[in-house]
Amino acid sequence: MKGIGVSPGIVIGRVLLKEEKQILVEKRDIKNYEEEIQRFKRAIESGKSEIQDIYDNVLKNMGETEASIFEAHLMILEDPEMVEQVEKKIEENKVNAEWALKEISEMFISMFEAMDNEYMKERAADIKDVTSRLMKKLLNIEEVNFSELVNEVIIVAHDLTPSDTSQIDKNKVLGFITEIGGRTSHSAIMARTLEIPAIVAVKDVTTKVKNGDLIVFDGEEGLIHINPEEQIVKLYEDKKAEYNKSQKQLSLLIGKESITIDGIRVELAANIGTPKDLESVINNDGEGIGLFRSEFLYMDRKTAPSEEEQFEAYKEVAEKMKNKPVVIRTLDVGGDKELEYLNLPKEMNPFLGYRAIRVCLDKVDIFKTQLRAILRASAYGNIKIMFPMISSIEELRAAKAILQEVRNELIKENIKFNEKLEVGIMIEIPAAAIISDLLAKEVDFFSIGTNDLIQYTTAVDRMNEKISHLYNPFHPALLRLVKLVIDSAHKENKWVGMCGEVAGDPKLIPILIGMGLDEFSMSPISILKARGIIRNISQDKMRDLAQQVINLPTAEEVENFIEKNINLKH
Ligand code: PEP
Ligand code: MG
Repeated sequence: MKGIGVSPGIVIGRVLLKEEKQILVEKRDIKNYEEEIQRFKRAIESGKSEIQDIYDNVLKNMGETEASIFEAHLMILEDPEMVEQVEKKIEENKVNAEWALKEISEMFISMFEAMDNEYMKERAADIKDVTSRLMKKLLNIEEVNFSELVNEVIIVAHDLTPSDTSQIDKNKVLGFITEIGGRTSHSAIMARTLEIPAIVAVKDVTTKVKNGDLIVFDGEEGLIHINPEEQIVKLYEDKKAEYNKSQKQLSLLIGKESITIDGIRVELAANIGTPKDLESVINNDGEGIGLFRSEFLYMDRKTAPSEEEQFEAYKEVAEKMKNKPVVIRTLDVGGDKELEYLNLPKEMNPFLGYRAIRVCLDKVDIFKTQLRAILRASAYGNIKIMFPMISSIEELRAAKAILQEVRNELIKENIKFNEKLEVGIMIEIPAAAIISDLLAKEVDFFSIGTNDLIQYTTAVDRMNEKISHLYNPFHPALLRLVKLVIDSAHKENKWVGMCGEVAGDPKLIPILIGMGLDEFSMSPISILKARGIIRNISQDKMRDLAQQVINLPTAEEVENFIEKNINLKH
């Protein structure tokens, strides 16, 4: 089978299927109700010990706030009220435990949901969670918890949400395969950050494999072999050894400068989602953080993180990066990143809808809390602020005005922050690229977000695997826009970076060098390869090639031209 290889590495291992089973509960008459009550009690005990384990794990790896969700779940199972009512129903109506649980839990859920108080409403969600856990126990449906795996596995799923991937234990998950997604979907980005080989957009793969099947795959090529012959396994073992050797060679570039043959120095920075990702940045010798996707701090929880929590996270990153630049992007939710507690409406076109800066300019309290946290953390390192999804001067001014308000508040309160903190924007909407000459006058820097810029320029949904062949970074329209943006920034003496996936694309890096890009921000695992390429090219020569490339008519010709004229084997 074949999909899109989104995270490199060779994998040989056994399948663990993440199944999305519908829970169907039937009513059955029960003769021996005492036995049925015992069965229910056993489900409760096993559910409790499972939740306790998750609680311990989350507390250790994530923190108290995240763990408190599971504390609430335990309390529900320890509270006699609901449990006793289920037992009573089994006894009085002589029905099966599943049916009794369904009836009683639905009653509690609707009672809590009808309450006016937000806290009580959240209890309804907790009861739903706990009930579904118990139901799976009673019905013998296996639940997979990615943070508690015992054996090494390859996860095969229809999709992995950002919360699934954030729970992955990379010592146990050798790789993953999903049915949907593309190179820039968040599961793919997370795979690269975690350095887990992955393939996405493999149609119907969940119906083609079963738990325990042997799979081998190459996360770059996108080819998957299911229960292959010994010969193929041997081939992949050799490939794996070769891959490890080339990784070792790349490690020789640690500590070296990112400089072209003709002496042009650029910055090779990393994209991260949480402070945990710093390990990979440091291992791969990242020269800064060019994109801190702050929205990951807002995920997997029931309320937005407080100013203090955010401050701690931003400060930790700034301090660990030791004065190297750290660009914190303000909250970018919407699109494929949902936050339940924000109650974002379901939309026909979420990528064209209520997203990123549009949400922040509307929910000013949330925005201000984040800006306060970032400004406060700016006293501890080289932090810069970046606004996502800017499409007009008006939006930029509105965001800057709120930032100014927050600055004034901090000054009044005598709280220190870096008064010279740089403020930049992402250029990821064609409108912004087209008016980049005007925007450049009002910011300190740009960072080009090609993941979105490609989808908005070519009208190709970055998540839709049916049209993923149309999502093409070699499209001349993209290259022309990139050139325009770089020139606009330089005319105003501003620096310009790129934090979309194109920044780490070995074929396009030389062209970007030729166009004069100052900073490249990418998945940490791509940094050393990029450095190897940059150290072997001259900007002068690439300038010439870049000029020729943007005059080519098709993406295919662009790609062929690069392959023919630039030696990429370093
Ligand atoms: C981008 O759009 O290129 C980008 C870096 O942002 P995200 O992938 O988080 O939308
Ligand atoms: Mg984007």
